[in-house]
Amino acid sequence: LPGLYIVATPIGNLGDISARAAATLASADLIAAEDTRVTAKLLSHLGLRVPMTPYHDHSDERVRAALVARMAAEVVVLVSDAGTPLISDPGYKLVRDARAAGRHVTTLPGACAAIAAITLSGLPSDRFLFAGFLPNKAKARADTIAEFAALRSTLVFYESGPRLAAALGALAAGLGNREAAVAREISKLFEQCVTGTLTDLAARYADAPPKGEIVIVVGPPGEAIAETADDATIDAALRAAMAD
Ligand code: SAM
Repeated sequence: LPGLYIVATPIGNLGDISARAAATLASADLIAAEDTRVTAKLLSHLGLRVPMTPYHDHSDERVRAALVARMAAEVVVLVSDAGTPLISDPGYKLVRDARAAGRHVTTLPGACAAIAAITLSGLPSDRFLFAGFLPNKAKARADTIAEFAALRSTLVFYESGPRLAAALGALAAGLGNREAAVAREISKLFEQCVTGTLTDLAARYADAPPKGEIVIVVGPPGEAIAETADDATIDAALRAAMAD
């Protein structure tokens, strides 16, 4: 069936490509890729040769219009460099325009670093907010974190090694010293998940920025406040704390 196929690719281990994803890539007329060089490696691993074109949400409107036009009669596959397209990656405008034009749109689910990190973290997984990348600048970062402080949810952030310690410190300052996890290199040779409080983790990474790709998972606010959030209980806890 012609249309737009959103295909998740591995976030490390190439064995994580699904059978259906491989078959769909093989049958594609065109692959719209975030970086065609990165996707070329995946195609070569699968022994495939398929025409590719670069796609970003900031690509020219005409690029998107041409892709949507081709979806009328051809199989157009959207991939990003790793994981699920659209998740801190390009694609939503292409999906929006394909839908507006009445094209067939379908998705082939697969690896996503945020979901994988939650499963590794041991933190509550019933309710979470995916917050993507924090802003670089300290003020904007603190303002963004402040928006999340009242949520009784686990929070998930994408991060890079050099910025990790600063991000953990800012999270501790804005959210309180919550339980957290730093998941690194998921599904790769040096996969690691380190758990602790935000301040412990910030101290651990302060002088030793880790290599590789990182997800920070932060637990919800402490049980005492989260689960018995009536004013009288909080008042009593505050009075007790002040009496110490
Ligand atoms: N679309 C991707 C997904 O589904 O997870 C995410 C793309 S985003 C541009 C890249 C970020 O995802 C990295 O900076 C890192 O925070 C996270 N990431 C990707 N692969 C990872 C891995 N194998 N281990 C840990 N984090 C990873």
